[in-house]
Amino acid sequence: MRKTLYLKFLLAYLIFAFFGFVVVATFVSSMTIEQLKRERADALYREATLIANTYASDLYNVETSLDTVKKQLDALDAYLGATLWIINPSGLLILDSRAPIDVENETVVSGFDPTVTENSYYTIGNFFDSFTEEQLSVFAPITSNYKVRGYVVIHYPMSNISASGNNLLNISYLMLVILFLLSLIILIFFTEMVYLPLRRITEATEQYAAGNMHYEFQIDSEDEIGYLGATLSYMASEIARSEDDQKKFVANVSHDFRSPLTSIKGYLEAMLDGTIPPELYEKYLTIVLNETERLTKLTNGLLTLNNLNTKGMLLDKGIFNINKVIRNSAASFEGTCKSKTIAIELILTGDELFVNADMVKIQQALYNLLDNAIKFSRPDSIIKIETTEKHNKIFVSVKDSGIGIPKDDLKLIWDRFYKSDSSRGKDKKGTGLGLSITKEIIHAHGEHINVISTEGVGSEFIFSLPLAEEENED
Ligand code: ADP
Repeated sequence: MRKTLYLKFLLAYLIFAFFGFVVVATFVSSMTIEQLKRERADALYREATLIANTYASDLYNVETSLDTVKKQLDALDAYLGATLWIINPSGLLILDSRAPIDVENETVVSGFDPTVTENSYYTIGNFFDSFTEEQLSVFAPITSNYKVRGYVVIHYPMSNISASGNNLLNISYLMLVILFLLSLIILIFFTEMVYLPLRRITEATEQYAAGNMHYEFQIDSEDEIGYLGATLSYMASEIARSEDDQKKFVANVSHDFRSPLTSIKGYLEAMLDGTIPPELYEKYLTIVLNETERLTKLTNGLLTLNNLNTKGMLLDKGIFNINKVIRNSAASFEGTCKSKTIAIELILTGDELFVNADMVKIQQALYNLLDNAIKFSRPDSIIKIETTEKHNKIFVSVKDSGIGIPKDDLKLIWDRFYKSDSSRGKDKKGTGLGLSITKEIIHAHGEHINVISTEGVGSEFIFSLPLAEEENED
C-alpha cells in the first residue's frame, strides 16, 4: 500500500506536468500567435491609412515625383521591416519599396482583388502568388475626389510573427518549468506530513498485528495524521492492558481454584489411604464441603461478572421499594448475625421508597455489601443500613464498625480477586469478587458507589440509585 500511494502521487504530479505542457504548446501557443497577428495588423493598418492619406494621395493630387514617395516608402520599409506597395485598382504595381522604379517593365499583380480581405482589414497568404513566403497583408485605399485611385499595401512576413510568438512561448515554457519545480514543495510536504507518518503508522499496525502490542511510535504533528497515530497507539496500549489484565485474571482464577482443589484432593487421599481414621471423617468431610462451597461461590461469581461484562447495560429495570428489599436482605442475614451477636439497624427514609432499577441485581449488590460488613465486623457491634433521598436520587449506605480497610487498599478492593492481607486471616472463604460484581452492577445502572473507611474503626459503602418517577409498587 505504501509504495503505491507514493507512486500515485508521483503519477498525478507527472500528469499535471504533462497537461501543463500540452496546454502551453496548444492553447497558449495559438492564442499568442493570434494576439500577435492582430496587434501587428492593427499597427500596419494605421500605418497604411496614414500613407494613403499623405504621400500616396500626393501622387495623385499634387505634382510629387515617384522618387520622393519611393524614398519615403523605403525609409518606412526599413523601419517596419515590411514591404510597402502602392498598387492601382487594376493590380498595376506603381511603387514597391523592395524594387527600383522601372517604368518600362511594369509589374501587374494578376488577379488582384481589393475585396479579398472581406470583412477584415488584413489577409494572410502569398498575396495573389506575389510571394513565396506567407505574408500578413494589410491595405488601405487611396482616395481622391471621392474615387479610389489605388491602394497602399503593407506585407509583413508571417515568419517574423511566429518568431516573436516563439520567444513569448519560450517564456511560458520557462514559467511552466519554474512552476513545476515550485510544486515540488507540495511533494516534499506530502512526503513529510503524510507519507512518512503513514508509513510509521503502517509499521506500527504491522507490529500490533504480529502481537507486539508494546511497540511504541511517535508522530509529532497535531493534525489528523497525528491524531490517528495517537489514537492507534492508545488503542494498542489499551489492548496490551486488557491482555495483561486477562493474563492476571487467568492466573488469579487458576490460583483460586487450585488451592481448594488441592486441599480437597489431600483430604480425600488421606481418607482413602487411612491416614485419616474413620472417626475423624466427619470433621474432614465438613472441611471438604466448605471447600466445594467456596468453589461454587467462585464459579457463580465469575459467571455473574462475565454476564455483566458481556451484556453491559442489559438490565431488567423496574420500579420497586428499596426499603422493602433492604428489610428482606437484613432478615436473611439474621441467623449469621445472631451467631456473631451482631445487630443490624435500619434507618430508612419513609415507609416506602421507590427506585427504578434491576431489583435482582440490586439485591445481589446489597447482599455482597452486607456479607462483607458482617464478615469484617467485631462481635457485639452494630451494622447500620441507611437510605436517604437527595437530588432525585436515593443513597443507600451500609456502615460497619469492623476492621476497616487500610488506606493503600482502598483503590484496590474493587479489583477482581483482590483481598486485603488483613482480611485473609478472617475470611478464608472470600473470593475477592464480591465488590467488583457490586461495582459493575451499580455502574451498569449509570450510578456510583463509594467507600469511606478507617483502619480499625470501620467502613461505610454508599451507592446511589435513581428515584422512580411514579411511585408504583410492582
Ligand atoms: P470477598 O468476596 O472476598 O469479600 P470483596 O470483593 O467483597 O471480596 O472484598 C474485597 C476485599 O475488600 C476484602 O477481602 C476485604 O479486604 C475488603 N473489604 C470489603 N468490605 C470490607 C469491609 N466492610 N470491611 C473491611 N474490609 C472490607
